[in-house]
Amino acid sequence: MRDSLSVEIVKTRQENPEVTTLYFARPFDFTAGQYISVFIPDSPVRTGKAYSLSSRPFDELASITVKNIGGEFSSYLCSRRVGDVIHISRAYGDFNPRTNRPLVGIVAGCGLGPIWSVMSDEGVTQDKTLYFSHKTPDYTVFDEELVRSDITVRHFSTQQHVEGVEGWSSGRFNVDTIAREVAGNAHFLVCGSVSFVRDVWQKLTANGVGVERISTETFFES
Ligand SMILES: Cc1cc2nc3c(=O)[nH]c(=O)nc-3n(C[C@H](O)[C@H](O)[C@H](O)COP(=O)(O)OP(=O)(O)OC[C@H]3O[C@@H](n4cnc5c(N)ncnc54)[C@H](O)[C@@H]3O)c2cc1C
Repeated sequence: MRDSLSVEIVKTRQENPEVTTLYFARPFDFTAGQYISVFIPDSPVRTGKAYSLSSRPFDELASITVKNIGGEFSSYLCSRRVGDVIHISRAYGDFNPRTNRPLVGIVAGCGLGPIWSVMSDEGVTQDKTLYFSHKTPDYTVFDEELVRSDITVRHFSTQQHVEGVEGWSSGRFNVDTIAREVAGNAHFLVCGSVSFVRDVWQKLTANGVGVERISTETFFES
């Protein structure tokens, strides 16, 4: 908690049954794709836990988008209300590739946060495609923002058939197919669990994608 900043929650949004976005006045500048640490007073986890900023550097409000998995931190954050104060660090991390190459995001669930921040940042005008995996269409996040954005989004529903729904496919995405169908010079942004990121990374490199064209962020072991 030493040197932490206190910020007041000014808005919350329930993205889906598991995921909540918390908004607070942006207390510092940051680079798209960075994360903060959140501290809980009197928690045995004195170093806090990391949460990616799901807002862009130019947004008036900063945000984090949290999946409630029933652990100490995610339960605490997903039960915060407007007017509550949370304690956070400054922003860290270097997920942002700062490139003009076409961007391809490969992500599951709330892992969208840092990828959204990078892909929709000011000046990011190149082609952007997002391969976005969810349990079902009810489990999307940032749905309206994505519809309004210039990002081409391919949704994948892993637990519900979605035949005929525009923009949606049933089942898991196939990384070999993605590597073949995107621009040959694309830069990949991958975010999710350790096993998800490892699997995607291995398949991309097996398809000849150079490691310098893959940026990864891992949220948790699974
Ligand atoms: C750089 C970085 C950025 C992160 N950004 C985010 C973010 O934007 N949003 C977010 O929700 N989390 C994010 N995390 C994960 C976050 O830091 C916590 O680990 C997470 O909220 C779980 O903490 P907990 O105390 O609730 O549960 P814990 O008690 O730590 O976890 C209990 C168990 O659930 C597993 N687990 C942890 N997280 C998940 C999950 N999301 N889904 C399924 N199983 C899980 C753990 O491996 C563990 O076995 C990030 C982690 C890192 C390292």
